[in-house]
Amino acid sequence: MKLGFNEATALKCQGQSLMADLEACEKNGFDYIEIRTDCLKAYLEEHSLDELKSWFDTHNLKPWAYNTLEFFNMRDEAGEKEIDEHVDFVIEVCNAIGMKTMIIVPTFDVGFVHMDEIHEEAVKRIRELADKVKPHGIRVSLEFCGVPTCTINQFGTAYKVVEAAKRDNVGITLDTFHFYAMGSKLEDLEQADPKRIFIYHVNDAENLPIGNMFDEHRLWPGEGAVPHEKISAVLNKIGFDGVATIEEFRPEYYEMSHEDNLRTSKEKIAAHVNKYFS
Ligand code: ZN
Repeated sequence: MKLGFNEATALKCQGQSLMADLEACEKNGFDYIEIRTDCLKAYLEEHSLDELKSWFDTHNLKPWAYNTLEFFNMRDEAGEKEIDEHVDFVIEVCNAIGMKTMIIVPTFDVGFVHMDEIHEEAVKRIRELADKVKPHGIRVSLEFCGVPTCTINQFGTAYKVVEAAKRDNVGITLDTFHFYAMGSKLEDLEQADPKRIFIYHVNDAENLPIGNMFDEHRLWPGEGAVPHEKISAVLNKIGFDGVATIEEFRPEYYEMSHEDNLRTSKEKIAAHVNKYFS
């Protein structure tokens, strides 16, 4: 299984930048990087997409996914326009550097909207996004978030949206923290088509009650309460074979030097893959 690094992991480390992440990923032997919007925007203040492409052309590390098109659903007219413009930017970036997947995240705090309404609207919106990026060979990967106020916050409900969209280029992001944090069901994962799992974010979680944890409660994989043995067993059973990407947001890990953070990230994700996947 190939190994990926998500830029959230070292985001607030001293000296962090897209270029610092790229160089450190290459040095530590990662196969892929997931590029964050904020890191990319900062990079583009002084560099160009052509320069970024040249960097990838001369290194082993490759771009895996754009992280993230945030809050794609349940938006007002101005919000939808904002999303459409953001997608134009993602297409430009993907075309320039040969990146093929865009992660999208659902909207939070929309009040008390019924699930069938959320489902229908999300399917409609995701189809529009998928059809827009398809000519560029880009896939759309829906990342449900394990927070009570997120409109799509469990694997099962997210997967239903993905299925109902009926588009080849629509799939799901399985983030193990989010999976655990809102009590997603292994039975739902078992029903999934492995080819629809576009992104696999690996991490762990503090032993907090379901529905009462946030990104800062993430831990290195293997150091918390996420049932990795069970999740991995299901992934192996259904035949998942993708990229395992480490994604942390932990303040303590931001206290580490950038070098230590990247080295540890590589050790932890490699250990996870060696333990659970052949
Ligand atoms: Zn994630």
